[in-house]
Amino acid sequence: MRRLWRDWISSRKKAIAVALGLMALVSATSSAYPALIRYVFDALGAASADLIWQVPPLIIGITLIKGVAMYFQVRQVNQLALLITTSIQKAMTAHLIRADLALVMSAPVGEFVSRLMNDVLIVREAIIRLANNLIRDMLTIITMVAMMVWFDWLLTLIVLGVYPLAMQPIIKIGQKQRKQSSHLQEQMADVTSLLNETLTGSRMTRAYGLEGHETRRTALAFDQLFDRLFRLTLGRARIDPILEVLGGVAVAGVIALAGWRVVNGEMQVGDVAGFITALLMLVQPVRGLGTLNAVVQESAAASNRIFALLDAERQINDPVHPLALTAAKGALDFDQVSFSYGETATIDGISFSARPGQVTALVGPSGAGKTTVINLIPRLFDRSSGQITLDGHDITELTLDDLRRQMALVSQDAMLFNDTIRNNIRLGRLDASDDEVEAAAREAAAHDFIMGQADGYDTLVGEGGGRLSGGQRQRISIARAILRNAPVLLLDEATSALDAESEKQIQLALEKLAAGRTTIVVAHRLSTVQNADQILVMDQGRIVEAGQHSTLMKKDGLYARLCALQHFSE
Ligand code: ADP
Repeated sequence: MRRLWRDWISSRKKAIAVALGLMALVSATSSAYPALIRYVFDALGAASADLIWQVPPLIIGITLIKGVAMYFQVRQVNQLALLITTSIQKAMTAHLIRADLALVMSAPVGEFVSRLMNDVLIVREAIIRLANNLIRDMLTIITMVAMMVWFDWLLTLIVLGVYPLAMQPIIKIGQKQRKQSSHLQEQMADVTSLLNETLTGSRMTRAYGLEGHETRRTALAFDQLFDRLFRLTLGRARIDPILEVLGGVAVAGVIALAGWRVVNGEMQVGDVAGFITALLMLVQPVRGLGTLNAVVQESAAASNRIFALLDAERQINDPVHPLALTAAKGALDFDQVSFSYGETATIDGISFSARPGQVTALVGPSGAGKTTVINLIPRLFDRSSGQITLDGHDITELTLDDLRRQMALVSQDAMLFNDTIRNNIRLGRLDASDDEVEAAAREAAAHDFIMGQADGYDTLVGEGGGRLSGGQRQRISIARAILRNAPVLLLDEATSALDAESEKQIQLALEKLAAGRTTIVVAHRLSTVQNADQILVMDQGRIVEAGQHSTLMKKDGLYARLCALQHFSE
């Protein structure tokens, strides 16, 4: 909580001061009520005519001031809390967008979404409660107690002696709530990621007839969520009745004692009425304070999760003294490069050179480490040993921006955003003009099918490009890479077979794209790499054979066997 204050709240001193001022006004007007009641009762007792002329306008005036002050105070506090949590959400999202790929892949997407939405919501509620209860209610309590002392100090002393004892059960409930609530947050994250998974897999669910299975799975999760929520609500529900009874006992006790003192002439009727009014007005703020602990604990747990995310440091960073590199030629060299995601080596001492104008194809059985080699080049992951150089510079000597600007990635999952075709292509270079976008699309053999869409370049592609065919998505991502015009081209070839026509068009588009660049392609269909300048055959993280198609065929090794498996030998 201290960190929340230091990093996110304390900078907004002016807004906090305004809120404090409004709160002081609210509690000051509250404290006028008991004083007024005392006056009314004394005036009633004396049957004074002043009562009729003075009190009604006074009451209306005070309630008006209090009403207006309350509105602006609530507005100010909520606005402040919203501003703070919105900036936390922005910072978290920005952090996730820049974070290491390894971090983002370490947990289900739903879990991050849950932290961003649920945890931040809890923090927001806590900020509001803290402002309202800790500050406004404290002020009210102080003024009410002062009023009570003014009316009758002895009675006040007795009440204050008993009150803390009576609050014990409420504090106990609060502590229990806090444990329940941290479980609840974990459950929320689980349910969010489960729902995310279920809805993302909609196609599979239907195709495999898994509707029943998925329905049961989600129903179970919601049932568990129900249990937790219900238990939490029960805890909260106990607090009100306890306070109600406590209030009754307190008023009864005060009336008994005060009645005795009035009979003995030690207290005025007006004092008793004012005292009871102040006592009743204490209940609400005291109760707020009583449950505040639970809320603060809940939000401490939520802030811990938020800060854990914000604190996750990047392993892959810019060097302290980066080399300036604006336009690389594209000479790429791997020298004894090794890498592992976990314990075992995924890439084990790989060396090769790729030159501009050449196509280097990575082939091999699945799981051999081909995609991983591609991932190491833009430093999506960092090699654990060996050296990767671009134009002779170790890639870790360049800034990530400079390095990644030198390459374009065309991946098999042709990542499209739910936006127009035009904007999806423009992601290759954000400042490209419409004409340049169109020129890139023409080169990628995408222009014709785009013009065939209802809205041409302004057609929305749907989530993940779902409204386009696989071949169309590929061509859009090729157009994006053409627009990027980078010296190094990384291709993760589509595994799924395309129809012959799209395949031919894509092949042509890729050849155009590859011209003059250093191309590294992960090839799943060996038919597409027979013209490659070098073919690196990978198996279990090593390069086991290297050469051109004809040499490798003559060798009759792994490559020849893979070709035979694909019924292809020419
Ligand atoms: P290929 O592209 O040749 O099919 P990959 O490079 O994708 O192979 O994967 C090589 C190995 O690394 C596989 O055993 C795979 O399970 C593992 N692997 C890939 N990505 C990750 C990851 N993010 N975390 C852990 N292991 C991974």
